[in-house]
Amino acid sequence: MSDRYQDLAHTPVGKFLVNNLGLPNPPRLERWTPGAPVVDGTVLVAAAEGSTLAPALDEALAALGVATTTAVADEERVKGIVVDATGIDTPAGLDQIQQALTPVLRSLSGCGRVVLLGTPPSEADTAGRAIAQRALEGISRSLGKELGKGSTAQTVYVAGGAERAIASTLAFLLSPKSAYVCGQVVRIGSAGIVEAPEVDLDAPLAGKVALVTGASRGLGLAMAQTLHRDGAAVIGLDVAPLADDLQRAMASIDGESIVLDITAPDAPQRIASYLAEHHGGVDVVVHNAGITRDKRLRNMKTENWHKVVEINVDAPARITAELLEAKLIRPGGSILGVSSIAGIAGNNGQTNYAASKAGVIGWVDELAPRVAADQITINAVAPGFIETDMVKTIPLTIREAGRRMNSMAQGGLPIDVAEAVAWFANPASAAVSGNVVRVCGQSLLGA
Ligand code: NAD
Repeated sequence: MSDRYQDLAHTPVGKFLVNNLGLPNPPRLERWTPGAPVVDGTVLVAAAEGSTLAPALDEALAALGVATTTAVADEERVKGIVVDATGIDTPAGLDQIQQALTPVLRSLSGCGRVVLLGTPPSEADTAGRAIAQRALEGISRSLGKELGKGSTAQTVYVAGGAERAIASTLAFLLSPKSAYVCGQVVRIGSAGIVEAPEVDLDAPLAGKVALVTGASRGLGLAMAQTLHRDGAAVIGLDVAPLADDLQRAMASIDGESIVLDITAPDAPQRIASYLAEHHGGVDVVVHNAGITRDKRLRNMKTENWHKVVEINVDAPARITAELLEAKLIRPGGSILGVSSIAGIAGNNGQTNYAASKAGVIGWVDELAPRVAADQITINAVAPGFIETDMVKTIPLTIREAGRRMNSMAQGGLPIDVAEAVAWFANPASAAVSGNVVRVCGQSLLGA
C-alpha cells in the first residue's frame, strides 16, 4: 500500500512544507536485501568501566563481518553505535553513557543503530547496579524518539553465561532487518538457555521445517516467504475459503499447504499427524492466524468476544500443547506468537482483541521456562500499524494518526514483522526466549 504523504514529503515542494510547517517527516527506511552486508558501514564500539562483554562482542561482530572502530574523527560517519554498559553499578556511573554518546550522535548516519548492552536488573547484586541497569531502558527508549531519520535505539540485557549467544540478536538489531523496531528491550538467556550455535548468515534455516498459520496473505504470507528465504521448508495453513490463495502462495515458495480451521476440535491432532507423517516433526511454529471483531464492550456480542479469543490465543495454545505432548517440536526449535500493541496498550473498541493479544504475552511468559528444558524457545512479535489490506478499512483520519504517531512517522511493512519472526526462528537465537518485541516503529500507543 503506498504512503502518499511520504511520497509528497520527498518532493521539493513537500520538503519545503514539511520543514516550514513542522509536519511529520517520514524518512525512507532502509531494508535488507539478500547478499547485502549485516551493516553497510562502520560500528563504533564503546564500553563503560568494568564492563565485561568486550571479548564476546568482538567475536560476535567479527563473525557477522561488521567493521568496528573505537573513535570517530570529525566528518566521519558511523552506521551503528554499541555501548557495553554492563559495568555500570551506580546512578552516577550512567554519566559514562552520556559521555560516550553525546559527542558521537551527530556522526550517526540515517537509518543508524544504537544498541546498549546491559545485565538484567533482576541479576543485580546491589541496589546501585539494579538502578543503573534498569536506567538503560529509559535511555534507549528516549533516544529512539530523538534520533529521527529512520535511526533506532534498543537495550539488550545479557544474562550471566549467555555472553556468547548475542550474535543473532546483534545481526538483527544492527541491520536494516530491524527497520521498524525501535525502543525495544531484548533479554538473552533469561529463560534458562544460555548457549547458541554460531550464526549462519546465508541460510540459517536450511534443513528446517516451519509451519505458519494464516499464511495465505498479509503478515503470514510475508513470514512464510521470509522463512523460505532463510532456507526453511514452509508449510502454510489457512481456512478453506482461502485454499486457492494459500496453494498459490505456497507453490511460489516450494511450500506445502494445510487447509483447516485452527479452532476445529480436531485441529491440533490433524496438524500433529500431518507433521509426524510428512516431516517427522517441526522446527518453527508461527501462530500468525488472527482476527478482529471490534465493538465497545457495552455493545459486544458474546459470539464475537469468544471467536476472537478462541482464534487468537486459545487455538495456538492448544495446538502447541499437542505438538509438545507428541514431542514433535524438535530441540533447537522455536514457537512464535503474534501479539499486538493493542495487547500492551489497550485500544478503544478492542477489549476482546486486546484480551487475546495480552493473553499471548501471558502464554509466552508461562511457556518459556517450561520448554527451555527441551531446548525450545517461545517469543512473540507485537506489531503496530502495518500496511496490510486490513488497514485500508480504517477511516482516513484514524489511519493517518496511526501511521504518523511513531518514531518513524510511517506504517511498517509486512516484511518488518517477518524479519523479527525470522530472527526469533534462527537457531542462533537459541538463548532468546520469553521475549515480546514490538514491531511498531516505537508507536506512541503504550510503553
Ligand atoms: P489477515 O486478516 O490479512 O490474515 C490473517 C490470516 O489468518 C488470514 O489468512 C485468515 O484466513 C487466517 N485465519 C483467520 N482465522 C483462522 C482460523 N480460524 N484458522 C486458520 N486460519 C485463520 O491479517 P494480518 O494483518 O496479516 O494479521 C496477521 C496477524 O497479525 C494477526 O494475528 C493479527 O492480529 C496480527 N496483527 C496485525 C497487525 C496489522 O497491522 N496488520 C497489527 C497487529 C497485530
